Amino acid sequence: MIDMVKLLLMGDKARRDRKNMGVISVTDIRKIFLSEFGKTFSSDTRLTSADNDMRFAVEMQKKRIAQKGLWLDYDFIPRGHNNAGRNYNDVFTDGKYAAHMSSGTCTFKRVLKKGDRLISLKKLPANIWLMIMDVKNGDRVGDDIYICPNCGKPSPIKELIEGCRSCGTRFKMDELYPKVSNYNIVRDYSMDKSEIFPKYILPAILFGLGAIVLSIIGILIALAAGIGSYLKGGSTEGSQMVMGVFATIIGGAPVYGFMGAGLFIFGRLIFDALKAMPLLQAQRTRTLFENVMKPYGQEYMPDFFIGRTIGKVKTVIFSDNPSELPFYKGKDLPSDAKDMVDIVFRGAFRFDKVEVSGSKAVVEGEIYSEVLYANGKNSNRNIGVRLVKDVTKKHGLDFSISTYQCPSCAASFDAYRNKFCPYCGHEYDMENDDWVIEYIR
Ligand SMILES: [Zn+2]
Ligand SMILES: [Zn+2]
Repeated sequence: MIDMVKLLLMGDKARRDRKNMGVISVTDIRKIFLSEFGKTFSSDTRLTSADNDMRFAVEMQKKRIAQKGLWLDYDFIPRGHNNAGRNYNDVFTDGKYAAHMSSGTCTFKRVLKKGDRLISLKKLPANIWLMIMDVKNGDRVGDDIYICPNCGKPSPIKELIEGCRSCGTRFKMDELYPKVSNYNIVRDYSMDKSEIFPKYILPAILFGLGAIVLSIIGILIALAAGIGSYLKGGSTEGSQMVMGVFATIIGGAPVYGFMGAGLFIFGRLIFDALKAMPLLQAQRTRTLFENVMKPYGQEYMPDFFIGRTIGKVKTVIFSDNPSELPFYKGKDLPSDAKDMVDIVFRGAFRFDKVEVSGSKAVVEGEIYSEVLYANGKNSNRNIGVRLVKDVTKKHGLDFSISTYQCPSCAASFDAYRNKFCPYCGHEYDMENDDWVIEYIR
């Protein structure tokens, strides 16, 4: 709780610094995001640090949680070897915009309640991965269309800075960028020194000590039995032999105890490694995507694809009306989809098929996830997906697909949320601009 408060204060401080300097760094946006995201499900806190697409996914999920009469809360508690977070150098850019990957360790705590009743509690040592979008050169993006963070209507960036043409709100450039465009909460298998002790060393020591205590008790019992039979004056041969064997076994217990302790540590390491194995195997299939898609441009980076795909899959699953979403061409969703209230990515996407024939790219695979259901059940579930895209159409990193100019009436609208132009009803085919989901199962 104290840590959470600290994190919140850090967020506020980062916000103040940003106001003072007029610039917000990619590192600061991480702090602000975690502090906002920790409150967004359980309160009216707006995700100002997230982009339009991500805010939409969260809105859909909040609606689902509310419809089920549930209360969900996230907490990100500082922990681990990288709790301040770090940005990676594999930034990619299209000249105007740049995508930064950032990761940092913490304890992810999630609470699900129905009324006052706790129905699910999860605490996970986690790595929070963020994809953060930033402008490289503010002057060059003035004519690009951006969804007004206040009213949701599209305007050119330079107009938003002077005042949104629909609602009049004025924005500073640093209120528009950088923004978190997607996130992943992934189990952190790494441990710092303070975590290795309770998980491996302490149980091993207890194991060994237990064995020593047992052996002392055993020796005492054996001694008592020997003395007893001696006092009875009967033949002591048989009982001496039994006692001898017994004493050997019991006397050796500390040795076995510590051997056992060693095996315990070893076994636990193996067990943890086995649990991570399917994820690592799935992770290796990334090269399939890389090899096939690389020639078509840097926007076909696996991390970028996976992050965006998970965001869309969540939006579809949590949506009341998936058929209205431009990035979903599928039919019925799996029967358990309507009871899902949270989906945590387990860190691996298994690519089963990546093919380009003519202008059409097809990707099939499975998202390794942990799904929380409305009844509090939390289970591992792979979510199968198939996506298609026209690879001859290029798009920049600005996600200009989010705002789309209708070819029929020339009006701009938020194409991430509307399949049909709200002005003339023209159907928008997103496949030209972005990956479209053909099924989820
Ligand atoms: Zn506006
Ligand atoms: Zn139109």
